[in-house]
Amino acid sequence: MSDVLELACELIRRRSLTPVDAGCLVLIGERLARAGFQLESLCYGEVDNLWATHGTGGPTLVFLGHTDVVPTGPETSWRSPPFEPTIRDGRLYGRGAADMKGSVAAMVVALEQFVVARPDHRGRVGLLLTSDEEGPTNLDGVRRVVEHFRTSGERIDWCVVGEPSAKQRLGDLIRVGRRGSLSGTLVVRGMQGHVAYPEKALNPIHAFAPALAELAATRWDEGNSDFPPTSFQVSNLNAGTGANNVIPGDLTALINFRYCTASRADDLRARTEAVLQRHGLDYALDWDVSGEPFLTPPGGTLRETVVAVCRDLCGIDPEQSTGGGTSDGRFIAPLGAEVVEIGPVNATIHKVDECVDVEELEKLPAVYRAVCERLLG
Ligand SMILES: [Zn+2]
Repeated sequence: MSDVLELACELIRRRSLTPVDAGCLVLIGERLARAGFQLESLCYGEVDNLWATHGTGGPTLVFLGHTDVVPTGPETSWRSPPFEPTIRDGRLYGRGAADMKGSVAAMVVALEQFVVARPDHRGRVGLLLTSDEEGPTNLDGVRRVVEHFRTSGERIDWCVVGEPSAKQRLGDLIRVGRRGSLSGTLVVRGMQGHVAYPEKALNPIHAFAPALAELAATRWDEGNSDFPPTSFQVSNLNAGTGANNVIPGDLTALINFRYCTASRADDLRARTEAVLQRHGLDYALDWDVSGEPFLTPPGGTLRETVVAVCRDLCGIDPEQSTGGGTSDGRFIAPLGAEVVEIGPVNATIHKVDECVDVEELEKLPAVYRAVCERLLG
């Protein structure tokens, strides 16, 4: 069994449901310490994070990953137990095989091989792992680590995220940016009353409807060459007591923007509130930005390097995408780092019978190692 396959199996055996790490980081830390890496354990609340580096000075290339996994659902729905790594038909099955213990194992093996081959490489190479990526808040994972990095003056030039990015084959798609996500909880206040006496009540549904129509029809921006236009969606809309003879006292709407680098979160907020005010609404609106958009521009050193590695090692000219959901890369990018995501096929992530192709998993350390060689070799 290859080194990467063996390590991926060892990680899958550990039931590391967010934020539990179940010993994954200790196992990896011991290996990297043996390879000469300096370790720093950054524990916040219930969350363990590992920061391992090799070398000194700059530039700094960091691999970013998570060892936590999402719940399995009913284990009996799986063809083989989710925490018992099983190889069938050339695929490795188990929770986290693709998202993202396979990539984490590949990063560790690549880093070990790289520092053995190039003990005096230029700059620094590092691995940042968290056990809080899949949870609902991510408060104590990479978000907190980055706060620590800001105060300690840590500098990161390039960050490779191992999230499963590929569609059908390793190297067919890399992510070079992500849209931002801006959420709001809107409460429109009216006045409750009997439907037969509307003059003695104020219907918040009627008050909100024209404002909603305007918000839904607004063209927020035109997008740009790397991103589609910003989109506005209402995900929940609630009002009413359940009775058909009562005008409700208030209305609650959950709204979300997936926004591109052509817009800024504070502008979207201001424009939204201007619409609500123009329609004369009495409202309260709580905003939450869960991730700023980022883009690693074409011509960037890391982006061009990863594209070249895909061509040379996978024989594919990769699609360079900014689609999909968010990842921890959103916390690293504001440090001024170029961020690119490249990992295995994502077809089975978060599903029962999650798996990764063994041949592709065994190719992944060479891909990550090639990025190290070309940037720091
Ligand atoms: Zn993931």
